Amino acid sequence: MEIELKCIECGRSVGEGTTNRCECGGLLDVILDLDSLRERVSRKLFNSRLGSRRFPYRSGVWRFRELINPLIPDKDIVSRPEGNTNLYRHEKVEQYTGIKNLFLKHEGENPTGSFKDRGMTSGISEAKRLRMKVVACASTGNTASSLASYASLAGMKSVVFIPEGMIAFGKLSQAMAYGARVLQIKGNFDDAMSLVQESSHELKMYLLNSINPWRIEGQKSIIFELIQQFDWEPPDWVIVPAGNLGNTSAFGKAFHELGELELIDEIPRIASIQASGADPFYKTWKENLPRLEAVENPETIATAIKIGNPVSWKKALRTIKLTNGLVEEVTDQEIMDSKAVIDGSGIGCEPASAASVAGAKKLRESGVIDKNERVACIITGNILKDPDATINYHLSKLKKISPRFANKPTVIEPTTEAVRKEID
Ligand SMILES: *Cc1c(COP(=O)(O)O)cnc(C)c1O
Ligand SMILES: [Zn+2]
Repeated sequence: MEIELKCIECGRSVGEGTTNRCECGGLLDVILDLDSLRERVSRKLFNSRLGSRRFPYRSGVWRFRELINPLIPDKDIVSRPEGNTNLYRHEKVEQYTGIKNLFLKHEGENPTGSFKDRGMTSGISEAKRLRMKVVACASTGNTASSLASYASLAGMKSVVFIPEGMIAFGKLSQAMAYGARVLQIKGNFDDAMSLVQESSHELKMYLLNSINPWRIEGQKSIIFELIQQFDWEPPDWVIVPAGNLGNTSAFGKAFHELGELELIDEIPRIASIQASGADPFYKTWKENLPRLEAVENPETIATAIKIGNPVSWKKALRTIKLTNGLVEEVTDQEIMDSKAVIDGSGIGCEPASAASVAGAKKLRESGVIDKNERVACIITGNILKDPDATINYHLSKLKKISPRFANKPTVIEPTTEAVRKEID
């Protein structure tokens, strides 16, 4: 059995190693040997590892190791462990969206507070196998937090490129605290992404953005775990917030492989949701353009998806085609009101995550999703990542947003009488 890295554009095989692109500029796919895997994996095998205390099976990523990185030895696996995130239902969210069977898979419950940990355990483990010393990424915050944590755990140095003044404080604080070298780039995420691609090769830093195919392999486990939680009966829809499009890409690959391995009978439709101020993928898909129409100055309160030139758009488009999926966009108003509903149900998330629920509501209202269909929304990040957005929403301090669900604190005199007046 072998693993092959293959160009998605020209089909050429690229030997294993540190490159992230083919000579022709195309992105690379990890190609698993599905014929030999068909004999080795089963629902039963993956179910038998549930609740295991044995390394590395406690991880919701490495439980599926044959489908993540089948050849990596235990000693190279760097795991916290990640995954095993909960699937929630709540009446409030179902009423708000008008969908009766709505499930929220909370990726904010990962060790550093976002789904990025799933791609990072895979990426850093491969970096360790390749004996890399320094790793790098450009980030709107969560990739940086995750990279910094996993690199320190593995004894590597990390360098993160973040757009100056444009990332949420929770995330910046994590990157600094976990010990990354933090470079604040005078520019936006897309500028940081160009710079890290340009400089990482020359300076021998292993690049760990989702352009790295091993990140995508790890993030497939969101789908593997979700389907296992549904007892191997896929929902009708999977809805995911979309920024740099790594997750959208990973989800299609995961479903393709599950289908080929006969672990599922049907492939759900994937809906990829962008913020309307940062919607290059939406425009490109909607107008069926031959090339990505980049957004010059992306704008949205959901900083995790504030990206104008997503690297993985071609892989993501493949996902949408494979799953008969679609791309939708939602406004910041819709994002923040949806977030308030998710938060108010006790579940909670950061702004970008709420794009999935806002998208579900919009697709229900336009009749694309039926109220009786089973829908899984991916909640990508933790509520504590961006407390400023939450507080400013409830204090009505966000420009151009009028909060439908504001919950404002009140200042009172320290008397029972004053308390009575407030709670009556
Ligand atoms: C990274 C991130 C996204 C966007 O995911 P992509 O794979 O880049 O499309 C969405 N939400 C959160 C919280 C993230 O950290
Ligand atoms: Zn190529």
